[in-house]
Amino acid sequence: MKKNGKNRKPIKYVLTAILIAGLVVFSLLLVSCGLFEETPETESMTETESQNIVFESPTDGLYSYEDMKSDMLALSEKYNGIFTSRSIGTSADGRDIMLGILGNENASRRIIVTAAMHGREYLNSYVVMLQIEEALASYYTASFDGTAYSDLFDAVAIYIIPMCNPDGVSISQYGIDAVRDPSLRAEIEKIYESDKGYGFTSSPLNKYLSYWKANAQGVDINRNFDSDWQKYVGMGVPCFMDYKGKSPVSAPETKALVDLVNQPVTTLASVCIHSSGSIIYQNDPALAQLMKNLTDYTVSGDKGNLPSFSEWCYYTLGIPAVTIETGSGYCPFSFDKYVGIYDDINLILPTLAAFYQ
Ligand SMILES: [Zn+2]
Repeated sequence: MKKNGKNRKPIKYVLTAILIAGLVVFSLLLVSCGLFEETPETESMTETESQNIVFESPTDGLYSYEDMKSDMLALSEKYNGIFTSRSIGTSADGRDIMLGILGNENASRRIIVTAAMHGREYLNSYVVMLQIEEALASYYTASFDGTAYSDLFDAVAIYIIPMCNPDGVSISQYGIDAVRDPSLRAEIEKIYESDKGYGFTSSPLNKYLSYWKANAQGVDINRNFDSDWQKYVGMGVPCFMDYKGKSPVSAPETKALVDLVNQPVTTLASVCIHSSGSIIYQNDPALAQLMKNLTDYTVSGDKGNLPSFSEWCYYTLGIPAVTIETGSGYCPFSFDKYVGIYDDINLILPTLAAFYQ
């Protein structure tokens, strides 16, 4: 036993030495892979965090009015000089209608991009905000068709209103509690009863409100513009959709957009983003083709004869315009659908700026 024990002792030392040496080599390998290195990890985390203002997904799966507004302000602070944001008006329920200007805010030519004119189509607000952040993050490094972003957006600024109908979005996302003004809340409860009477819904109130398209007054903003307004019939009373209002441009949200478009800046084009159907409603053929090339959506005939934003831009003001209907299925979309829509319209901002240089 002793002998054996004596004989084994050196072997034990050798095995221990091999084990220690092995651990040292393994640790060195880990260090060389950067796993134990603190400084680069901290740097890369900071870098990632600094790029993610909008890209941070909302915690409750709903990109809200508050998320949009705070992201707009954060982007304009971070990208001072190439992105500005401001309110262009106040909604019926007191929310800001936020405008972001990508590029040279003093440019004499611009393109207007609008989204979420209908409440339940709010996922497009998030996707458009992502597109803004992506363009800003690569502003000084990326180019499109051989022209640097910084040149593209210096010559042609993009005016983006990612959430034209912040009250409608909030109503669709959070139900009746999202309505701040008691008289508007009472009005919406009346509209609910009216819509039940028309047979439009038999759902409980908040389920019904999730399909809300109108503003907080029951006016469909995209039927409130002064283009074939008289001819349009739609709903004769306030409704979750298709009520054109008492007179053209009666809704404060419509007025804010009209005032913006009427500014003395040349508007080269207007793209109005809705959902759903993966369809492009053509007004201007060249712009529709450009958007088809980008999205691979089907170009459908001109809707015409509607008091919508695109029709008003195109027929009343002569601005090339189209309406894009993103995604497929019923709105509101679940949050995960943003990935597909993001891919569909990816690079829409440089695409537009390059086309209209
Ligand atoms: Zn719509």
